[in-house]
Amino acid sequence: MVTQNSHELFTEALRHIPGGVNSPVRAFRGVGGEPFFVAEAEGSHILTVDGEELIDYVGTWGPAILGHAPDSVIAAVCGAASRGLSFGIPNPYEVEMARTIKDLVPSIEKVRMVNSGTEATMSAVRLARGFTKRDKVIKFEGCYHGHVDSLLVKAGSGALTHGTPDSAGIPSAFADLTITVPFNDPAAVRQAFAANKGEIAAVILEPVPANAGLYLPEPGFLELLRSLCTESGTVLIFDEVMTGFRLSPGGAQEIYGIVPDLTTLGKIIGGGLPVGAFGGRADIMDHLSPDGPVYQAGTLSGNPVAMAAGLTQLNELVARGGWSELERLGNLMEEGVREAIAGKPLTFQRIGSMFCLYFHPGPVRNLAEAKLADREKFARFFHAALDRGVYFAPSQFEAGFLSLAHTPEDIEETRRVMVEALAVAGI
Ligand SMILES: *Cc1c(COP(=O)(O)O)cnc(C)c1O
Repeated sequence: MVTQNSHELFTEALRHIPGGVNSPVRAFRGVGGEPFFVAEAEGSHILTVDGEELIDYVGTWGPAILGHAPDSVIAAVCGAASRGLSFGIPNPYEVEMARTIKDLVPSIEKVRMVNSGTEATMSAVRLARGFTKRDKVIKFEGCYHGHVDSLLVKAGSGALTHGTPDSAGIPSAFADLTITVPFNDPAAVRQAFAANKGEIAAVILEPVPANAGLYLPEPGFLELLRSLCTESGTVLIFDEVMTGFRLSPGGAQEIYGIVPDLTTLGKIIGGGLPVGAFGGRADIMDHLSPDGPVYQAGTLSGNPVAMAAGLTQLNELVARGGWSELERLGNLMEEGVREAIAGKPLTFQRIGSMFCLYFHPGPVRNLAEAKLADREKFARFFHAALDRGVYFAPSQFEAGFLSLAHTPEDIEETRRVMVEALAVAGI
């Protein structure tokens, strides 16, 4: 199988797959050049088909919190697979998964499994609309919630990297129901509520926005959203597809002490397989089919292989007290990066095991400030680091991720590479 190099494979891929990739950011358009192809990955390292070994800070965009191919998860997947891949009728793993999620995220009273983060946010918004019998949704500039029609307005992630935040193919009537507001702007949120009294079904946000780089909610901002939603009967949806089980057992909502009405999950919960989930208040969740009028379904939802992978990863995280170790590694990374960038007009932001280096003096508190970053400098830095064996996300507008498999030696090597890469890139 591994007889072609990355360039040959990509040339071939371009003939068969739009842009040569199955998800746009992988095409390296944010940094130029061509993507490498992966032969295999283990722990914190990726081995490319060209025989290069890389320290990986993408972690398949977040799911690989134990590192790549952890023994426990691989064994669980093989064990479950040997008894059947999917039945389309309940299996015991689904009950255990629901119980585990509820134990870790107390705001979730009932939960339903889906197959991606996009499905989770799409379903949560539909449920909020069905529950409130209202149509409008507030979202925040730079927050990415998957490629859901009504949420692909001023979104982050690939939609931002590619300069097309408003995708073609979305009827303007859909986008009209989506009100976008800058993050960390209390006055704008108040005004959006005042101008649409009694019409807002849901407010959806990444409580820690990590799809336009990484910035944090300012004190009081999440509290304001909670109180405006409570006052107006609006459903508050925390999209924790990225932050869920990464920042703490209970995600960003635990760290900031805010109880959302609904939460969406994905990434880590699948242990590397395609999984998402949405859950929250039982009185809202009971509006879902078959109990309620809001339809939602999935042929492969809750299949035993994906459940086994996710459950095993979550259980191991809990058993190892993973979050304090991730904080320790994050701290080490931050010390190294701060040393490497001292005196340079760059902004490093971190929470737990997530981080972003903006090529801009800062501050960065919202999308407008994130977009001030110098993407050409970032691209030069990215390639210089990659040439030296360190793989950061191929876009200025993505977060980096540490895993429990990263070692102090990896981090020290990364610091050394960053110093060189910044020099080579002329920064
Ligand atoms: C990744 C992500 C999604 C989309 O998840 P997919 O599995 O790619 O559909 C949604 N919301 C957030 C916050 C994400 O980071």
